[in-house]
Parts: sequence; structure tokens; C-alpha cells
Amino acid sequence: MSENRKQKRRARKRGGIVLLLVLVAALVVVVYLLFSGTFSGGDGDGAPERDGGGSVRDAAAGDDDGGGDGDAYGGAEGGDDGITSLWYYDAANADRYKAYSVRMPHLPMDDIVWMVEANLDKEPYVDVEEVLSPYSVTLLANKYFYFSESYVPPELVAVGNSMLRADAADAMREMIDDAAAEGHNLWVQSGYRSFDLQNRLYTGYSAADGVEVADTYSARPGYSEHQSGLSVDFNTITQAFGETPEGIWAAENAWKYGFILRYTEENSHITLYMSEPWHFRFIGREAAAEMHTLGFPPYEEYWVKNVKFVRNVTASAGGDGDRPAVG
Ligand SMILES: [Zn+2]
Repeated sequence: MSENRKQKRRARKRGGIVLLLVLVAALVVVVYLLFSGTFSGGDGDGAPERDGGGSVRDAAAGDDDGGGDGDAYGGAEGGDDGITSLWYYDAANADRYKAYSVRMPHLPMDDIVWMVEANLDKEPYVDVEEVLSPYSVTLLANKYFYFSESYVPPELVAVGNSMLRADAADAMREMIDDAAAEGHNLWVQSGYRSFDLQNRLYTGYSAADGVEVADTYSARPGYSEHQSGLSVDFNTITQAFGETPEGIWAAENAWKYGFILRYTEENSHITLYMSEPWHFRFIGREAAAEMHTLGFPPYEEYWVKNVKFVRNVTASAGGDGDRPAVG
């Protein structure tokens, strides 16, 4: 073999090794980008209490388009491009959008905006705001929006052994009757709960299970939807309820009566509760039908895009809460 041919062969060999190295490097970069995108959602959101539900939230973090626009996650670096024209954009919160997009770089900016408008960039139970429009059936109560200790909903009436707001109670009776007509025995295990009752429940749960675990399934006093008189727990408070014919029927049909399944596994990274197949929330038939059409996004997202901003009314206008329910 001539010296010339040996050199050529060595050169080919070197070329092959260089190509291999380049491919390996590219693979490493791709893997790194994938994982940094996936995990930054959990690391960056500044909520130490959420650790208990962290894995669920991280796993679902790529999904929070909900029923919205179905955008691909491409626009995260786009800065303010385009978001100022969103109807739920509030220039006063531009700095919060920016800060949250740094913490949640895998999310597109239009999701960042509704999440900030729902206060999801804040610390749950710590950096909180009183429920806006607390007499509206479309109110939002969660770990970021609380009821005052003295808040009692209007017109509580009995449904079985529980109490609900009259509008929710009428719809609930109809739902229970229709379920019965199809052979399903739905009953309200728990409806309205006062601040004091919730306080006793939560105190008991957190004493038994510790605060971190209790927070995944029980609201702290003032933060429970049950204080609104618009929420019900059906039958048995177990995950198994979701697999029963009653639970399946309720999940499929509740929206027709104005109720939505409030805490799902898909939404747990937003609600910070585990899946609760027994817990339904009355939001009115019109809103529930819209939620159904949208494919049941997190209620937080629906609320920002259709309640907080839809009527050309900003958050501050809803703050007095003296006006009666709309819708
Ligand atoms: Zn409940």
C-alpha cells in the first residue's frame, strides 16, 4: 500500500471520528434542551408547598393550553410580541409576565398572560387576593383567591342534608333527578361549608396527615370553594367514585346542568389539588356549556378569558363584590 493511500485512509478515518463526535454533541444538546424545558416548570415556580404534587404538575406542565388556542410552544422567547393585543392583557402587569416567562420558559406568552392574570405566578396561600365578585356564580376561589371569614353566600337552601345556593340547588335537584331516571343514585354528601367548619376540617386533616399532604386534598379555611355554596361533593369521597357508574355519569353530564368537574388530574398543576372525581362546581349553564365546547380547560383559564376580562371590565371593577350574580 502506498504512503499516499495510507494517508487517505487515515484522513477518512479521522473524518469519520469527527462526524461521530459532532453527532454525539448534537444529541447531547438536544437531550439537554428537552430536559431543561421539561423540568424548569417545576423548579421555577416559587411555590414550596407544591412539592407534594410536584411530579403531577411537572408531568402535566406541557399541557396547559387547556382548551385554549392549541398553540405550539414556540413563542416563549417572543417577548411582548403579539400579546398586547390579547383581550386579557393588562399593561400594568407587563413586568410580571416577563418575570414569569423567565421562570416558565417552556410556556408560550399567551399562556403566561392568563396564568399571571389568575395570580398563578404568586405564592399560594401567601401572596393572595380576596375573591372578586363573590356573589357571582362565576367567581374564582382557590389557593390564590380567598373568602373573608365573614363571607356567607346569599340564599342558601337545603338539598338533602346539605345547603347550596338557590340557583345551584335548583340545577342540582334536576341533575339528581335525571341521574335517577337513568338508574344512578347521586346524592350530595357535602355542599356549603362555613369558614368555621372548613377550619375544623382542615385542622383535623393537617394534624393527622401533616400540612403538605393535607394541602393536596383539603382547602385551608377561607380558600374552599365550598364556602361559596356553589360546590358539591357527591356520594363517597374516594378516587374510586370516578370509576362508578354514578361518577362516570356525573363527569359526562354535569355541564348540562351548569356544573363542572373542578379538580382533574390534567389541571392539578394549576389547581394544586389532586384529582377529585367527587367535587363539582356550579358556574351556571351558559359558562359550563362554553367550558364543554372548549374541552374543559382549567377553570382558572376560563375565568381569566371569559369572566375577568370578557365584558370590558377589569379586575378592579369586580373588586367591590356588591353586585348580584351575573349569568
Ligand atoms: Zn369538595
